Amino acid sequence: MRIGYGWDSHAFKSGVPLKIGGLTLDHPEGLSGHSDGDVLLHAITDALLGAVAAGDIGSFFPPGDARWKNADSSIFLETALEEVRHAGYTIANVDTTLVLAAPKIGPIAEKLRENVATLLHLEPRDVGIKAKTPEGLDQDHVAIAHAVVLLEKLDADGQTRHMAASADSSEDSPRSVEDVVRKLLEEPAVLPARKPTFNTEDIT
Ligand code: MG
Repeated sequence: MRIGYGWDSHAFKSGVPLKIGGLTLDHPEGLSGHSDGDVLLHAITDALLGAVAAGDIGSFFPPGDARWKNADSSIFLETALEEVRHAGYTIANVDTTLVLAAPKIGPIAEKLRENVATLLHLEPRDVGIKAKTPEGLDQDHVAIAHAVVLLEKLDADGQTRHMAASADSSEDSPRSVEDVVRKLLEEPAVLPARKPTFNTEDIT
């Protein structure tokens, strides 16, 4: 397995649409940037590139390159996904945190999660979307995004194997090594599908 971390920030400015996680959000201001300013996709892109030590978003898409002026940031993400595939890995899960005063992410968090999952070719259960307000940071005119990704190595057949087992046992129900191994091989562990709750009112 490999882990990657990405971070990005963009200032709000008027006159441009607000793009976050590939969605255009209803808000009076958007995010400034050479591209569409999608701070969340930029952080995830950097996390993916970092996980396979492939550089960073700026090395692939220099701000001075006119081709990326107002570019859709999903292009950057797709390039990072290609780097991950080329390295022989697949994404286990992605977790993210947005830090911004407005708009409130809670009401659109589920839609955001589904869209980011689609862009990453993942199930929504493998994408975490969290949001906080920048309490005490005096940064109400900035959007910040953090992202971590976990990658799993693919075998020669392009498959990963998820395993989990408990080694606990008692005299009443002793478990042999064979029992544990059999359980591992028979019951791939998957995360339970569930709808997470979101609370973006950060008062903690
Ligand atoms: Mg950026």
